[in-house]
Formats: sequence, structure tokens, C-alpha cells
Amino acid sequence: MHWVALHTGSGRCDQYPMPTCDHCGAHVSERFARVFADENGEIRACVSCSANAGIEQAARERARGA
Ligand SMILES: [Zn+2]
Repeated sequence: MHWVALHTGSGRCDQYPMPTCDHCGAHVSERFARVFADENGEIRACVSCSANAGIEQAARERARGA
């Protein structure tokens, strides 16, 4: 989703879809997306996912012995 690049004009851009979490599909706020979207404008995790994903990832890396 490239809404970040598109949303550079003035005011709100209601024609663009709400940014969503790529992990669970939940809608996130534009402010959240602006902070957490990666360079491709993709949001890897919303608030709840980022907490879970962080824990999952850490556990997975630990299990892998990384
Ligand atoms: Zn999510």
C-alpha cells in the first residue's frame, strides 16, 4: 500500500483507503501508519500485533539459537 507517498498533499485524503495492519488487517490511524509503515508503506503490525509480533519474533529467534 503506497498511501504514505500519496498522502503528501494538503488536508485529508478521504479517497484513499484507511491504512491497515498487514498482519491482522485491522485499521490503524494515519498517525500510527506514518510512524510504523516501512519504506514501502506497508504496516507490519498494528498496536496489538506489534506487541505480539515482538514477543513471537524474540521467542522464535531464541528457539533458533540466533
Ligand atoms: Zn494487527
